[in-house]
Formats: sequence, C-alpha cells, structure tokens
Amino acid sequence: MIIVVKKATTDAQIEEIEKELKDKDIQLQVNHGKNSTIIGLSGDVSTVNTELIANKFDFVEQIIKVSEPYKKANRRFHPDNTVIKISDFEIGNPNKLAIIAGPCSVESEEQICLIAKGVKEHGATMLRGGAYKPRTSPYAFQGMETEGLDLLKEAHKETGLPIISEITSSAHIDNFIEHVDVFQVGARNMQNFELLKELGKTNKPVLIKRGLANTMEELLMSAEYVMNGGNNNVILCERGIRTFEHATRNTLDLSAVPMLKRMTHLPVIVDPSHASGIAWMVEPLAKAAVAAGTDGIMIEVHNNPAVALCDGKQSITIEEFAGLVKKLRVIAAVEGREI
Ligand code: PEP
Ligand code: MN
Repeated sequence: MIIVVKKATTDAQIEEIEKELKDKDIQLQVNHGKNSTIIGLSGDVSTVNTELIANKFDFVEQIIKVSEPYKKANRRFHPDNTVIKISDFEIGNPNKLAIIAGPCSVESEEQICLIAKGVKEHGATMLRGGAYKPRTSPYAFQGMETEGLDLLKEAHKETGLPIISEITSSAHIDNFIEHVDVFQVGARNMQNFELLKELGKTNKPVLIKRGLANTMEELLMSAEYVMNGGNNNVILCERGIRTFEHATRNTLDLSAVPMLKRMTHLPVIVDPSHASGIAWMVEPLAKAAVAAGTDGIMIEVHNNPAVALCDGKQSITIEEFAGLVKKLRVIAAVEGREI
C-alpha cells in the first residue's frame, strides 16, 4: 500500500500516520520525491482502514493498493532511480554507464593485475573476478578462494578500481567485507534465501544475477529479501535465461532491461558474456543493451582467453575490450550518458 501525501507535508504530520498504524505489524518507508512525498507500507496491510486515514488526515492526497508482491523494490514506492555510489562512480545515475570488466576467475597475481590495469586504462569503472566459482562439475576449477580475494585486493591497490566478486556462502561474508566493494550473488544462488537474508544485514551493495529459469518478478523478490534486512543497495543483472535455443549458452532477455526499469527503481545491468557464451557475440549484445537503457555492462575480459581456467570461450581480450568501450561511448552519448 502507498500513501501519497502533499508536497508540503511535515515530518510531524507523517508521524501522525505512523501513530495511527502503531499497533499493526507494518513498516513505513518514506520517500521525499520531487513533486510529492510517498509513504510505502509493507507488512500485513489488510487491516489498514484506508477510509479513516483519508478522512482524518487532510494532507493525504491518495491511497493506492499495490498488488505486486515486491514492495521495497517497487518503483511505485520509490519513483526516483536508486543511485548507488561505489568509490567515486555511481551506478543507476541516468547520465552514467557503468563498465564492470575482468576475468571469470582470478588465476594468479600476474593475471589479475595485468587485466585490472588493462581494463582500467580503457574505461572500466569496476573490476570483476571470481574467487569462489559455482561450477557444474565438482572436478572443474573451483576458484582460488581466499587467496583469490587477497589477489583482488592487490589489484585494487594497484589500480584503485572497486572490486566485485561472487559470494557462494554466508560463511564467507566477513572475509568478503574486508576484500570487496560489491557482493555478487550468482544466477545459481539467486534464490538462496538464507544467503540473501544475511547479505541484507550488511551495508555493502549486492548485485543479484537473474537465475537460469527465473522470472523478473522472482528476481525482484530476491532483491526484496536483501532490502527487507535494511540493505537497499541492490543492483540487478540480466545474464541470459535458459531456453530451447542451443546456438548460444543462454538467451539474452533484452526486454528485461526496459521492463525491470519500469517495475523497479533499482539499477539494472546486463552481462552479455554469460548470456551468449561466445566472445564475438559480446560486442553486438553489449551495444544492444546500452541502446536498450541498461545502467551498466559486465564483461569477461582475459589477457589470453585460450588458456583461461574458466569461460575462455566467452572472454574477450583487453584489445577487444578497448574497441568495444569506444563504441559503447558513442551509443551512450546518444542519450547524453557517459562512462
Ligand atoms: C560469473 O559471473 O562468473 C558467473 C558465474 O555468472 P552467472 O552466475 O551469471 O552464471
Ligand atoms: Mn564466468
């Protein structure tokens, strides 16, 4: 439920509504927008007497019943974009395009530092690198784990780039807090609700990738788990969904960009690397995603994709990354956006 109040409404008047609802199990979220103030009500709103509130408080403009199950992530609760500041760049700012780049996995100090310097030089705003890899096969490379996190920190020291890395267990949260700027929840863990609840208790941004066979609404419900714990810094990532098509690794659901941007105020980014699984397809899909209005792109870049320990087939080289960023700058500029 949403209570829209007049622009001039004071905090004391909002408190009167709070008092009216104090005996109910309801949380209030107040957002001061440009033209009006919106109070989002979540919890059991079935007992709220809307007529009484509308009659009793003359500063109430409108009461809207929201049927969508996602509340805190809902754009109706929060009409302005959520802009998340990570070091000195912003994600969700409509004038900016975030470029997250780096290898699928951290493999050595030399590899991660070389890639970090390369992508930074050519426009990356954040470095990605997996230290814990959720592999289909237990016999495949599982990542460098804690050593990988240490190497990411080293790459951060050398370049200043903020770090994003995938977390697969809540047991690792404390160590991640020391080493990374953004938690990545992978597609396979999108509905690991216990992990999401624990991440909700932290104050670091959380990037949630859409699950292999999950709807946009389910993705927003996962964001809701994190936000319900008090952490509103959630970024969503479309990375392709599983369909009957086998020519590509997954099918990039580009419609998720404009649709999610309408459904939610949270930033939405696209990962064309996992969506296609093919290095030469990263460029056309990234260009399309920027044209569709994504807030950022996450790309796998490797200094030597042929010998990468994970996802080499979809990784582009540092030189290819440099060429791609130049083209993305041109497309972003059409909408007045910069990297
Ligand atoms: C990754 O980003 O390295 C990854 C494993 O992605 P996803 O969870 O989208 O498969
Ligand atoms: Mn990968």
